[in-house]
Amino acid sequence: MKLDHLGVAVRSVDQALELYRDGLGLAVRHRGVVEHEGVEVAMLPAGDARIELLEPTTPDSAIARFLEKRGEGLHHIALEVDDLEAAVGRLRGQGRRLVTEEIQIGAEGYRYVFVHPSSAGGVLLELIER
Ligand code: ZN
Repeated sequence: MKLDHLGVAVRSVDQALELYRDGLGLAVRHRGVVEHEGVEVAMLPAGDARIELLEPTTPDSAIARFLEKRGEGLHHIALEVDDLEAAVGRLRGQGRRLVTEEIQIGAEGYRYVFVHPSSAGGVLLELIER
């Protein structure tokens, strides 16, 4: 298992890139819209991990609601696992709450689920499998 990325909620990816790309020199490796999540995503490799910038594209998306309640900031931590089904099975066995019951398909084709913060010590935890 390894840290895959940190998800950061922003009002504007373009504005955030002024810091991460123009100010800090990180490259943008992927940029696109995840329709079913209502977000525009930019992925910036940072060492072995990445920073994922998330801008809402619809007012009722989870990121839009997060920005409304808490403002810009760290949104989730993503860990890469070898076997997502097995990991989900273990967490369900512990009675942990997932945000969606079904495994989702992400921006770059990887599979993922979110573990609800109420079941993960206050952290929204994304598990991904490539
Ligand atoms: Zn993520």
